[in-house]
Amino acid sequence: MKKDLLSTEDFEPPSPSDGLGASKVAKNSESPLQVKTQKENAKVIPIQKVSSVPRFKSGPRSSAFRKQFFPQVSTAEWNSWQWQLKHRIRDTESLSRFLVLSEDEKLALGRDDHPLPLAITPYYASLIDRENPSQSIRRTVVPVTGEYFTSPGEAEDPLGEDHDSPVPGLVHRYPDRVLFLVTDFCSSYCRYCTRSRIVGGGKGTPVNANQWQKAIDYIERTPAIRDVLLSGGDPLTLSDEVLEWLISRVRKISHVELIRIGTKVPVVLPQRVTPALVRMLRKYHPVWVSIHFTHPDELTPETNQACERLADGGIPLGSQTVLLSGINDNVETMKRLYHGLLKVRVKPYYLYQCDPILGSSHFRTPVEKGLEIIRGLRGFTTGYAVPHYVIDAPGGGGKIPLLPEYFIGRSGDDLLIRNYEGKVFVYPDPAGSGGLEGPVEEGCQEAGAGR
Ligand code: SF4
Repeated sequence: MKKDLLSTEDFEPPSPSDGLGASKVAKNSESPLQVKTQKENAKVIPIQKVSSVPRFKSGPRSSAFRKQFFPQVSTAEWNSWQWQLKHRIRDTESLSRFLVLSEDEKLALGRDDHPLPLAITPYYASLIDRENPSQSIRRTVVPVTGEYFTSPGEAEDPLGEDHDSPVPGLVHRYPDRVLFLVTDFCSSYCRYCTRSRIVGGGKGTPVNANQWQKAIDYIERTPAIRDVLLSGGDPLTLSDEVLEWLISRVRKISHVELIRIGTKVPVVLPQRVTPALVRMLRKYHPVWVSIHFTHPDELTPETNQACERLADGGIPLGSQTVLLSGINDNVETMKRLYHGLLKVRVKPYYLYQCDPILGSSHFRTPVEKGLEIIRGLRGFTTGYAVPHYVIDAPGGGGKIPLLPEYFIGRSGDDLLIRNYEGKVFVYPDPAGSGGLEGPVEEGCQEAGAGR
């Protein structure tokens, strides 16, 4: 039988024990394995016993979906994040129960050389249009054959993260901060994932407790690091206990001022944001969370509730969004997303130009699209709703911000600048002459009229 897309990964959410003999690590009193793993917890609290799971308000869409496809499942079970993980959609057969698959999707799903496994939580599946393969959310998680075409300039690790790894699982690119890849597991896999080489049982080094310890040791002996970003994979798929083990170790390092978590969990598995998780996180403040959003249709009652719980826990929230062709690449969609985010106290932080990972050309837009979106937001709506549009430079150059041409150039002691309406203004800047250089457009000498 043909190997299915899902067969590379078990249901079990990750723990740093995975891949390690438990007895080997348990000898170490500082080991995270002293904390119960997800598997062990499951023995203590069987997944069926979910009466203690806090009530989560289900939205109309997911409620209707549950009644149609999981009529035997109670609200409490549906709102259990463990139930959601256990029932992820991971193969063609399951997916075709919920969706009418297009020929292209069937072809992509039928191949066994997939770059990334398939996984979609039932909750996130409830947001997918059953009939329309072009629907935005569907395109982000359902494979198509475009994934198998490599275009010029694409690479497995376009950001050169592996090159900047002093120890496996840690990227130290910028002077004062590190990216700590704490797991290769996500509850749902985005088809455009920058780390598809690592996540979902990819070719990267599997995450394990030994690797975590090496990363923590590196942070400890590097006083320049004041900011640690936990990412992956998705750190919020770890159990509270395992995640607390990790965060508490990082927090103990005196020069670490800031702990950040990068996650898509509030969007694809909002049930995971339990009061207990928030209570745990707030013990280690300042903790900031960056949430990966793609489309305004993700702003459901469930996701809004997850964001509000985090915000109520005093956790500053930012969003990160990848600009995706035909999915969110227009001003109207982005404005709806960013306005919705501000309502639930999430600051739109980054808009990323899609990284040139292998098989991503069907997702990438021209850079001009991103500039057009920023141009359509800046000045036309609340400044808080305007993210930084960045290209993460291939080869490890880091994030480079791009702005539409608001700065035009100089005219003697004056700076010539353009506002959101396209009008040109003059700002007196004698002290800066000889510093900023730039082209002076024809006719700009008359620009003073706009002042
Ligand atoms: S949630 Fe993030 S790490 Fe996971 S598949 Fe999506 S983009 Fe990749």
